[in-house]
Amino acid sequence: MECPSCRSHAISFWKWCVGLNAFRYTCESCGAGLRASTGVWAGFVITVAVALPVAIIIGLDFARLLSSDPGAWIRIATEVALASVLVFAGAVVTYSFFGYTLQRE
Ligand SMILES: [Zn+2]
Repeated sequence: MECPSCRSHAISFWKWCVGLNAFRYTCESCGAGLRASTGVWAGFVITVAVALPVAIIIGLDFARLLSSDPGAWIRIATEVALASVLVFAGAVVTYSFFGYTLQRE
């Protein structure tokens, strides 16, 4: 992801995924304060909106597991994998197509 101030590579994908780096960061090259662009916020909201129903289904299957449904573990594992893929895909698309803007003082 490029720094809008110095145009150098500001942050790696994996570092961008850690903590709140996707939303607020300081460019290591020029020291500019950076914040998430509108596109990053949109990507975050869309990713959560897509993954949230899967998370709710996981919660419902945990409830079935507590009632001793033998197939619940397989469904839960599948749903956790699906949610993980959705969140990862959302992060990759957001990181690849959107960037930072400069912080205003
Ligand atoms: Zn910079």
